[in-house]
Amino acid sequence: MHLPTLLLLTLLVNVMIGCYLAMVYLLRRHDQSFLLWSVACFVFVAGGCAAGARYYIDQPLITYLLADILLLLSPALVVTGLVLFLRGQLSARSKQQVALLLTLYLLPLSMLYQVNNASTALTSFSIAVIFMYAIVLLKKARLIPVFPIYVLQLFFAVHALLMLFQVVLVIPLIGEDYRAFSSPGLQWVLLGHVLLTTSTGLMLPLLSFSHTENQLLRLTELDDLTQLLNRREFLKRAEQALLQNRRLQYSVVVLMIDLDHFKQINDRWGHAIGDLALKKVADLLKVGLRTTDLIGRLGGEEFAVLMPHTSAEQASAIGQRLCERIAHHAWEIEARPVKLTVSVGGTSCVGALRDLKELLADADQALYQAKAQGRNRIVFGSEHI
Ligand code: GH3
Ligand code: MG
Ligand code: MG
Repeated sequence: MHLPTLLLLTLLVNVMIGCYLAMVYLLRRHDQSFLLWSVACFVFVAGGCAAGARYYIDQPLITYLLADILLLLSPALVVTGLVLFLRGQLSARSKQQVALLLTLYLLPLSMLYQVNNASTALTSFSIAVIFMYAIVLLKKARLIPVFPIYVLQLFFAVHALLMLFQVVLVIPLIGEDYRAFSSPGLQWVLLGHVLLTTSTGLMLPLLSFSHTENQLLRLTELDDLTQLLNRREFLKRAEQALLQNRRLQYSVVVLMIDLDHFKQINDRWGHAIGDLALKKVADLLKVGLRTTDLIGRLGGEEFAVLMPHTSAEQASAIGQRLCERIAHHAWEIEARPVKLTVSVGGTSCVGALRDLKELLADADQALYQAKAQGRNRIVFGSEHI
């Protein structure tokens, strides 16, 4: 391998990725992490140029000290961008930690940079530590989907190993002529570095985009106030669940749940308290029902539940418990003693040809009866229990 060509290639690849990330930043100005990732690429290029200059000029202050600082700053900026992306901001504690680590790096560097190759060993080791920190940082992140996280962790791990390998290669060369740096082993390290930098540069936007897409998808599926499925998503998923249960000949239950005299709560305590009450009922539904049940807010103060693989008797017992739990809950919303009950109408079918619309209409009819019979109770469509 021809070292100057390899170096030039490394720098060119970094310029291209830096421009690509800068373009993404221009399109998503709210996301400062792309700016940091882009700057990291250009800082790396500047560091590479300064380090390459050691073959032409004898200015260790530039070709060693400045070069090493820039080469370390580049991965540090990548990780800072990651922190910003994952946490939304840089806390005062993070800034203090960065300042402390930079001091710990700069102190020995200022003494070592005049000894040929010594600062390279120190910088490579420090970069490996930064990559290891990135792995821990990503491990703590709870992002969906997890695939880009795992791939990035792999890239950082290989990159950290590569940097440590570089340390092992450089240590015997400390004090030697800087030209010894062009040994074949180090050329392979450089090639590995180009590939990993490129892969990481391409993976970072994927991490961000897939996460944003997932969040947007969630926004279109969930009801803002209660974080239950919204009407459209509930109907879509309920249709799918119904089809599957029909195929397997399982019994399915549909419940309609409506808050009792909710208008009075709004009239007495105000709409904001009404909203909080709706949220609390939604939370109690989530806790009181099973994770396999689909729960949606169909609109206003009305909820629907689809319970797959459930008999009318089982659903009746669960619904009864739910009514009791909500009625006996110590409702204190913003220091107001709000009293709440719900009425539930249910219907069931076993692999029959009744479609979701029909089931919802039947459950609604049963709900109407529950209201007529005095509220705070569950009624099942008589022909189906
Ligand atoms: P019933 O027991 O017969 O169901 O009586 P109700 O008062 O609950 O029923 P009605 O249909 O008369 O009133 C429903 C009320 O729900 C009226 C409306 O202001 C309120 N409501 C609907 N959506 C929301 C919401 O998102 N937030 C709040 N705070 N209130 C809502
Ligand atoms: Mg109501
Ligand atoms: Mg209603």
